[in-house]
Amino acid sequence: MLEFLALPAFQDNYIWLILDHKRQEAAVVDPGDAVPVITWLGRHPEYQLRHVLVTHHHRDHTGGLATLKAATDCRIWGPAAEAISSLDRRLDDGDKINILGQTLQVCAVPGHTLGHIAFYCDDPDGPWLLSGDTLFAGGCGRLFEGTPQQMHDSLERLAALPDNTSIYCAHEYTQANLRFAHAVEPANDDIRVRLEVVNDLRLAGRMTLPTTVALEKRTNPFLRSNEPAVITAAEQQQGQRIAAGADTFAAIRAWKDRF
Ligand code: ZN
Ligand code: FE
Repeated sequence: MLEFLALPAFQDNYIWLILDHKRQEAAVVDPGDAVPVITWLGRHPEYQLRHVLVTHHHRDHTGGLATLKAATDCRIWGPAAEAISSLDRRLDDGDKINILGQTLQVCAVPGHTLGHIAFYCDDPDGPWLLSGDTLFAGGCGRLFEGTPQQMHDSLERLAALPDNTSIYCAHEYTQANLRFAHAVEPANDDIRVRLEVVNDLRLAGRMTLPTTVALEKRTNPFLRSNEPAVITAAEQQQGQRIAAGADTFAAIRAWKDRF
């Protein structure tokens, strides 16, 4: 059974460290900074860093790659469609890779960036997803490169994963995301209760991750663009009729950008 540890970096990034205790091997995800990873490895010399997984090209996800490559004998896996130096293998949609005794499936999820990928593992101990900056707890990444339609389709794809999938995303944005979600759907009790829980966790300085597909489908407005309450809220913001799906998603995303 794998263990997931979050190494905090910068203001609000998490570098996920995935540990296989039996093999004493580790993988890290989106190391924007090598220092927290090198520090952890220095304190646990029995563990070998075998794999580095990269979801997209932004600096806060790739800044540590060159140092980790030089300091360890890890293999670096990342998206074929993005300009990232020091990748050992470039991945496309549908590729499967083997790490830490598991098979991970590569999903292209364009929107935040055009080449963004996510990694899904149908782990017998419980499925899990590394979603980078695409799907956050209570929210989704900004559209820096893709269209609303692309991001909407990417999120639909992730929402179709099993309900019990654990989601490990790259930022601690949950509280701000849920404040917005509550503004979109003030009558949604799942959102209200989740916001209270998250407020308590943050007050105690604690992490709000991982989340699950089931919880996101109930509380994340960006996965709810077919819900009448969300469509109505989008229409009230824009003062015009809006279709369900990608158009509602686009309106909600634009609203969040100025919230
Ligand atoms: Zn990013
Ligand atoms: Fe980021």
